[in-house]
Amino acid sequence: MTELTLASTQHADLAAAAQKKRSAQQKKTAHMVRNYHLIAVSYLIDGVVLALFHLAGTISWVPVVAYTASGMALSIMLAWLIGSGWTQRFKDPGIVMAQTITAQMIQLGSMYFFPEIGFMFALLLFIVYSSLTMRLEVRQALVAWGLISVISAAVLGVSGQALRIPDSNLTEQLISMAFFALTLWRCIWLGAYNTGMTALLKTRGTQLAALTAKVDQLAHRDELTGLLNRRSLLGSLHDEQQRAARQKTQLCVAILDLDKFKSVNDTLGHLAGDKTLKIFANTLSSLTRKSDRFGRYGGEEFLLIMTGTGTDTALVPLERMREALADANWSEVAPGFGMTFSCGVACYEPGESLEALLQRADEALYRAKADGRNCTRLG
Ligand code: GH3
Ligand code: MG
Ligand code: MG
Repeated sequence: MTELTLASTQHADLAAAAQKKRSAQQKKTAHMVRNYHLIAVSYLIDGVVLALFHLAGTISWVPVVAYTASGMALSIMLAWLIGSGWTQRFKDPGIVMAQTITAQMIQLGSMYFFPEIGFMFALLLFIVYSSLTMRLEVRQALVAWGLISVISAAVLGVSGQALRIPDSNLTEQLISMAFFALTLWRCIWLGAYNTGMTALLKTRGTQLAALTAKVDQLAHRDELTGLLNRRSLLGSLHDEQQRAARQKTQLCVAILDLDKFKSVNDTLGHLAGDKTLKIFANTLSSLTRKSDRFGRYGGEEFLLIMTGTGTDTALVPLERMREALADANWSEVAPGFGMTFSCGVACYEPGESLEALLQRADEALYRAKADGRNCTRLG
């Protein structure tokens, strides 16, 4: 595989990750919209109960229409605002706090204006709370709770009327009981829904961790060999250079370049070339010290960053690598196959830039090639 195809594969992977994130966002929005539609249905259920009370002669048609229309209109409007993407500009795109306050106002207003069925709206406050506190932060929930306590006390005080449970005849008693049962059922449903959401959140958390690991892998690792990639190597080299400058420690860098690698591709094909790179990477990476960094610098070039190492010992690990490579099993590539590398080493000099250090290593590599390959030269 060429560098170009490798780069485009990585690009495709990153694009897929971005697409996944976008579709997760869309799913979240769709979920919020569905929530508000469910709330609208809940208001409709209340409307049916209110209509039954109207038919039973308990209330006029005014609370039926006023309550149902305001509740449904509010939920549908919020669903539309969220669905259109307008609320994305807010810290809380689900505008839960706005929904909490308006839903409370509807219940409290209904309690104040229609005390003859006041118990119903008092009960509905529980539904508003159990549905919204699941989505509110603790601080927001406390503010909403404080607000409703003060306002409801004020409303009850001002109206001066008792919140009534209609029970003057059997029909009213039956509707009141049915509404009570219905409210309990909605509480249970919300509890079950909450449990489902918690489980879903846990799954999403696991998926997110896997995705983050994948993005991290793509950003720091070379796809073919699994070694550190160029970006990661240069980042490490920068850090090590800073440390060496600060702590006056030694640091050497080696560029390893496979010899006549192009002819592997030309004679045995690109797949054999890729296999060669993998075997080379596997064999050498197992020989590096924990404190060293070894990775693919590009194409068929590799970089070894040796910390705490000076010119006197820098060549030792490279010779060990050369021997290991000679003993490696290359039969997967082709019978009787073998591979060598040339290497240029440069050791950091105080005050030297990264570019200058790498330039010296590159020049040393050029000399190793000129001296017949399969050898290391010090820059
Ligand atoms: P030299 O000994 O002078 O280094 O010769 P060389 O043939 O190794 O060097 P050259 O720069 O001429 O060729 C490097 C080749 O490496 C060319 C390129 O197609 C190949 N190559 C780079 N990346 C990959 C890869 O990921 N897979 C494969 N199969 N080949 C690659
Ligand atoms: Mg090269
Ligand atoms: Mg080469």
